[in-house]
Amino acid sequence: MSAPHSTSLTSLTLKGALDGLAARDFTSVELTQAHIEAIEAARPLNAFILETPDKALDMAAASDARRAAGTAGALDGAPLGIKDLFCTEGVRTTACSNILGNFIPQYESTVTANLWRDGAVMLGKLNLDQFAMGSSNETSAFGPVTNPWRGAGSDKALTPGGSSGGSAAAVAADLCLGATATDTGGSIRQPAAFTGTVGIKPTYGRCSRWGVVAFASSLDQAGPIAKTVEDAAILLTAMSGHDPKDSTSLDIPVPDFASFVGKSIKGLRIGVPKEYRVDGMPAEIEKLWADGIAWLKEAGCEIVEVSLPHTKYALPAYYIVAPAEASSNLARYDGMRYGLRADGANLTEVYENTRAEGFGDEVKRRILIGTYVLSAGYYDAYYLKALKVRRRIAEDFDKAWEQCDALLTPTAPSAAFGLGENSNDPIAMYLNDVFTVTTNLAGLPSMSVPAGLDSQGLPLGLQIIGRALDEGTVFSIAGALEKSAGFKTKAAKWW
Ligand code: GLN
Repeated sequence: MSAPHSTSLTSLTLKGALDGLAARDFTSVELTQAHIEAIEAARPLNAFILETPDKALDMAAASDARRAAGTAGALDGAPLGIKDLFCTEGVRTTACSNILGNFIPQYESTVTANLWRDGAVMLGKLNLDQFAMGSSNETSAFGPVTNPWRGAGSDKALTPGGSSGGSAAAVAADLCLGATATDTGGSIRQPAAFTGTVGIKPTYGRCSRWGVVAFASSLDQAGPIAKTVEDAAILLTAMSGHDPKDSTSLDIPVPDFASFVGKSIKGLRIGVPKEYRVDGMPAEIEKLWADGIAWLKEAGCEIVEVSLPHTKYALPAYYIVAPAEASSNLARYDGMRYGLRADGANLTEVYENTRAEGFGDEVKRRILIGTYVLSAGYYDAYYLKALKVRRRIAEDFDKAWEQCDALLTPTAPSAAFGLGENSNDPIAMYLNDVFTVTTNLAGLPSMSVPAGLDSQGLPLGLQIIGRALDEGTVFSIAGALEKSAGFKTKAAKWW
């Protein structure tokens, strides 16, 4: 059988590609080659900061051999992109910061190892905000990613969101069948919303953090960005699982998340938190939210208004807790063990010069804030207070679960904005995370599904928040929303 045209191979969903591989419609080498060509043609997007085509083709050939031998795994032969925050053995890992220089890990992160165990193929490493700190990909030492989407009739370059902007852009532009991402305050969900893709941050502890460059350890979670809800479920099933190397990893069985997609959601109670109706939210986002509510009603859900009264303190609490943990985690970059080492007259100067040269401005800002809020005299006033707020926020959710089974909110307060538009105003940038940071603080699963376009033709996402460990319900609701929204539009190709 002759291979289908390569563009049709890259436009497949992950599920479609796995079915095609199983049916022997094409080989993993053909599928991988098509993606390699797509990546080369898409360099203007700057989504991949390291392409690994030889490794990809080797992995694909090995996959084809496994399939021929009848030993193919759940993701066998599927080419994926990896956020450059995941350590990959023998393959440069930078967190998009100069301080890591040309760091080549001698170990593989557990999440990526799980994907390779199931037969997936690595296409390369994806761009991100430096150390995953940012909402626009502009803090990357490799320069920003450009969103494949553009407003109607406009050639203005837009952000794909952040920090997983490379992951989201690569999936949206059909450069890979799915990608790994991480979410500390919204970095999976906001880029998914900005690029018309699906992204889920699972319950804290579902995915091992081992081998993921640490930002804020009590908030960081890995998860997938994918083309469809079903694809996200397939990827999350592979990525999840207990890992003795991460003491916060949950030792519980991993459900087959895909089995929840397509399940009836009749009778579920969906909470709509009134505090998420923030001032200055564009009417189009209000409208999208109302559409989502109407779709869920039609699907047989009961809609209940709920209150999450501490929501307004979530952003300030997040921007204390996350920098505090970051300042501690990033202390390890001292120029001695990995990456960059700058010259200096003595050891202290080497430390100072290395850190001054190696870290970008946003990372320095976080280290300064974090060190400040942890210092004697300020610890109680800021850090301890933020921890108390964090508890109140978790309790708000606990109360909400007495009234409902899941929550529906917008993912982000706007559609993708222009590159450069918010980059000189950290507060404006931080405001982007207003709907997403709450679930990191509470450790809850939350997912973004593309649900519509704004008047400029840019994608908008809806967020579903679930009870801890109840990703299943989140996937069922996401599947129903995906079906009702009928979101099929792709970014018009300009690259
Ligand atoms: N935008 C948020 C921040 O800058 C979240 C980043 C993330 O989730 N990694 O901290």
